[in-house]
Amino acid sequence: MTTIIDGKAIAEAVRSEVADGVAAFAEAHGRTPGLVGIQVGDDPASEIYQRMKQEDAEACGMVARRIQLPAGTSQAELDQLLDELDADAGVDGILVQLPVPEPLEEPQIAAKIAAVKDVDGFSPGNVGRLLRGEPAHVPCTPAGVMRLLSEADVALEGTRAVVIGRSVIVGKPMALLLIAANATVTVAHSRTKDLPALAAEADVLVVAAGRAEMVRGDWVKEGATVIDVGTNRTDDGLKGDVAFDEASERAGAITPVPGGVGPMTRAYLLVNTLAAARRRVGDDS
Ligand code: NDP
Repeated sequence: MTTIIDGKAIAEAVRSEVADGVAAFAEAHGRTPGLVGIQVGDDPASEIYQRMKQEDAEACGMVARRIQLPAGTSQAELDQLLDELDADAGVDGILVQLPVPEPLEEPQIAAKIAAVKDVDGFSPGNVGRLLRGEPAHVPCTPAGVMRLLSEADVALEGTRAVVIGRSVIVGKPMALLLIAANATVTVAHSRTKDLPALAAEADVLVVAAGRAEMVRGDWVKEGATVIDVGTNRTDDGLKGDVAFDEASERAGAITPVPGGVGPMTRAYLLVNTLAAARRRVGDDS
């Protein structure tokens, strides 16, 4: 029997934990955690993501603010805003919605956000801490995947894990988290040779390539856990990177798209924001 890992239900539980944590934080510290989302330009998809993040944060009791800057905003202008937010005691989490329009560049932005408020976990400080195995804000998607694996009772120690994709926001931090959990990890990418054979060796297969239904049933080892991070808009609707029907015939456990990793990414932004608030006041509850 294949287990369908219900990311929607698990994310609901995570949100409820965060709401409890927010209430306890407010009680102990006399203020609620604050999240600020910055959008540069008027990309409609970014607008939707920003609105969802604000609603999510408000729903669990946080103070959430959105700041919209015009396309053409310079790095110096954005830096000034980031400095102000860094100095603002009521702001615990800062995120800049990606992608950003020119002349802005993501690496400069990631480097500018104070690590303690970098709730996306993209800053060099947080990436470095994750690499070193020190406490850090972990990017929301791989953090959410680790929770899915834990909730599905997937034992990682000693297993063979394959991560397809090597981006800074998903593939690389995913690999680091799996290594930290004592899996033996291989990271695959667009230049990997004979990917189907490599994938078929995986006890745990995490796919974040952005290629609709690339992973076919015969890429999946019998009984493997398959985590599909991909979200691809196609003429047939939203598709993952895994051909779900084929893969679920062989997988022991698998995430659907939608309803798998996506809700966890949203929920872990809230987890990171509450953690940022706690860290800033030295509250390790
Ligand atoms: P990127 O485009 O930054 O990275 C994609 C990675 O996949 C690259 O490392 C690339 O290799 C690799 N890749 C691309 N094509 C192939 C292929 N044919 N075979 C093997 N590897 C391949 O994407 P992201 O990491 O940002 O996102 C990946 C997917 O996950 C997307 O569908 C995205 O929408 C989704 N996503 C979903 C989230 C969620 O919450 N569900 C959150 C974040 C992302 P190379 O480095 O060689 O180019």
